[in-house]
Amino acid sequence: MEPIQATIRIERGRIQSVEPMLGGVKIISEAGIDFYPDCWALPGFVDSHAHILGLGSRLRGLSLYGAESAEECVGIAIMQPITRGGWIVGMGWNQQLWTSKQYPTKYSLDIAFTDVPVYLSRADGHAAWVNSASLTIAGITAATSNPPGGEIMKDKSGNPTGILVDNAMDLVRKFIPAYTTEEQISMLRASADHCIARGITEVHDMDVASGLLPIFSQLAERAELPIRVQSYVKAQENEWMHEGLLPAVGEFFRICGLKYYADGALGSRGAALLEPYSDAPHTKGLFLISENDLYRKAKIGLEYQWDISTHAIGDAANRMVLDVYERLRKEGLADSDAILRIEHAQIVHPDDAPRFAEWNVVAAVQPVHCISDASMARERLGERCLYGYPWRTLRNSGIGLAAGSDFPIEPANPLLGIDAYVRRVPFGEEKGWYDKECLTRQEALLSYTLWAHEAAGMSYRRGILQTKFDADIVIHNANIAHCPEKEITSASVVASYTAGVIRYKNDTL
Ligand SMILES: [Zn+2]
Repeated sequence: MEPIQATIRIERGRIQSVEPMLGGVKIISEAGIDFYPDCWALPGFVDSHAHILGLGSRLRGLSLYGAESAEECVGIAIMQPITRGGWIVGMGWNQQLWTSKQYPTKYSLDIAFTDVPVYLSRADGHAAWVNSASLTIAGITAATSNPPGGEIMKDKSGNPTGILVDNAMDLVRKFIPAYTTEEQISMLRASADHCIARGITEVHDMDVASGLLPIFSQLAERAELPIRVQSYVKAQENEWMHEGLLPAVGEFFRICGLKYYADGALGSRGAALLEPYSDAPHTKGLFLISENDLYRKAKIGLEYQWDISTHAIGDAANRMVLDVYERLRKEGLADSDAILRIEHAQIVHPDDAPRFAEWNVVAAVQPVHCISDASMARERLGERCLYGYPWRTLRNSGIGLAAGSDFPIEPANPLLGIDAYVRRVPFGEEKGWYDKECLTRQEALLSYTLWAHEAAGMSYRRGILQTKFDADIVIHNANIAHCPEKEITSASVVASYTAGVIRYKNDTL
């Protein structure tokens, strides 16, 4: 994949012709002619694993990303009391960034919020920090036992500390009032605008609650979405069956996949590992679904033409999901067109890496997770870091990788991901980390374009700038494939087109 300088003619949203031209990019469409001197065009970027509403609520609501202590989080919550039906709900704290590295407790929240319930999700979304008012509403006491796949953290005397991990989060979450439709529309718009300004013309939206689907459909019908959205709906509890949901096609909004969770995340030690955690020898993490249950659920999903997408971070979780997918392929339940995805594929045992190619399994990875997780991953995994974030290994086994950011957990900017792919230098460090797993820039670009479209079955129409393909285009002021490596992240998006229509123009340049 190479950025091009060319004259691109567009008709009815599709590319009619591409003629090489030195000196810039010229776009000719029904709307007129746009010329971008010294700029370079690429197919619009895809974020193949993200949470559109989550980014919207981060942009519009209480954000704790980057906070350096529990006290700072409490301070932010006091200053910006965004209340959702009388609750304070926020996200983004990460105790790994704090000097203490200790989980916060309900006590620091209780001082500021005696009666108002507070619910603050960790940056990775796999733990929640709540106050006593929330615990009371949920009826959680010293006597409450852990739900399957979750943990209520308790102190030495057995009292809940205010930290709920994975499935235990639901005990409180289910009491938080829903956003109003107007709030949701405003958040989705903010999120889509944020994406298009970063050259993202399409998002694979993960864990979508079914209530959000009519809102997306409406925005798409009114042509109010600047980006295309592929939805992977929450399916852990067979929600789609209870609600009579089926896959649906559309130009800007498509409902295509079912999303499952095999395990939790590494930061909260919820990722399911084959051997115990290096820094917590009593645990191997948590499975959030059994192998048989995932097999049965995916089998029914495939019968209804859904794509199947499963979150797997630990090496045990990746192996389990590969076992399920292998069985589905072998039994002919997933034919060659059926899309089977593993989201994250972070720690893949070397014995399992070739199985992605063997059973045609998509690896949807998040390059920025690698460079932001590195110091935590070293503690959790020890020597197993050798096969953490194994991009080159997976690529060499014969598959393309679909790239995403997992925003709002990480920034939505694809250039950060491309930089992470090619340099693999952890934040705050200077040297590449297991840089034998780096990808080339051409591969990194493919991963954000063509390979990402393959992961949603859309590569027959998108991901290449050529005749008859959709005119989804991003224009940068630099040639990302050939500029000095360190300048990748300083390139700017000059304009973004979706379906041949300019949706973003950078007026600051
Ligand atoms: Zn995610």
